Amino acid sequence: MPEVVVDRLLKRFGDTTVLQENSFTIRDGEFFTLLGPSGCGKSTTLNCIAGLERPTGGSIAVGGRTFVDTEAKVFLTPEERNLGMVFQSYALWPHMTIHANLAMPLKIRKVSKADQTRLIGEALEKVGLAHLKDRYPHQLSGGQQQRVALARALVYSPSVLLLDEPLSNLDAKLREQARAWLKRLQLDLGITTVYVTHDQDEALALSDRIAVMSGGDMLQIAPPQEIYRTPATAEVAAFVGRCN
Ligand code: ADP
Ligand code: MG
Repeated sequence: MPEVVVDRLLKRFGDTTVLQENSFTIRDGEFFTLLGPSGCGKSTTLNCIAGLERPTGGSIAVGGRTFVDTEAKVFLTPEERNLGMVFQSYALWPHMTIHANLAMPLKIRKVSKADQTRLIGEALEKVGLAHLKDRYPHQLSGGQQQRVALARALVYSPSVLLLDEPLSNLDAKLREQARAWLKRLQLDLGITTVYVTHDQDEALALSDRIAVMSGGDMLQIAPPQEIYRTPATAEVAAFVGRCN
């Protein structure tokens, strides 16, 4: 069964249409990337999946469960969707230790104290930072903070991971490391991931498939090699750095 099914997703802000009835399906365990220049509608798409934005039209289902359907008037809150999300700014709570940052989403879900400690340990283990649990965010490097944000998104075993430009605040060298590390984690966990980036190299290196976006439209959805070798339009070719 396909994990994420998006059908004719439409979004308007006032008179401006920012998503033009896009349909796509993301397979179970797939690393699916939304790639395109700033303002093309990547974050809006992700936020509609997360439940942080209400679509103007269309529907989204995950694992056979309808998250939103504008015709049937279904809308689940972000908490009801149980998805993991990491934003560009890591948004860790600065006044809380790493342990407390990871405990927060578990407390909201009424997980017992003993289970909290176990799940936090496991999540930090996955990102290799179990030894830093008593530190505060400002005592960690940017790369480490980003891994903590990822651990916090994984701590309650979400069905899907949503990542919005998680590497763009890192400098070039750290970004390279983080990319390799993210790929390894993806291979280990096999969790369905929707990844947003404007960086072509990042998309080509990480993704099982890429949706190339422009002006709220999806120009092509295909594996990286196919996008690179046989771009569907001149715009796709230009964007992935192929000059035809
Ligand atoms: P991307 O993530 O690809 O940079 P976004 O999804 O953030 O693009 O934005 C797509 C378009 O929607 C942009 O033109 C942006 O200005 C507009 N937009 C995003 N959020 C809002 C909002 N809350 N109100 C009005 N316009 C918005
Ligand atoms: Mg964005």
